[in-house]
Amino acid sequence: MAVPKRRKSRSKRNMRRMQHDKVAAPTIVPCPNCGEPVVPHRVCGSCGHYKGRAVKVTKPDTTATE
Ligand SMILES: [Zn+2]
Repeated sequence: MAVPKRRKSRSKRNMRRMQHDKVAAPTIVPCPNCGEPVVPHRVCGSCGHYKGRAVKVTKPDTTATE
């Protein structure tokens, strides 16, 4: 079995470990129905639409109106 010839430095070890557990920013697209930012392939949390039709019954939005 292949064995490392030299011990890697603390820096190199930490650089390797930094690749793990990275938090990736979620992909956000505007909802085609209401324009709110939504995660792709999910029902829109604002208007309840998915694939051009209402999937979820939502109450009239009271927070967005001013
Ligand atoms: Zn929407």
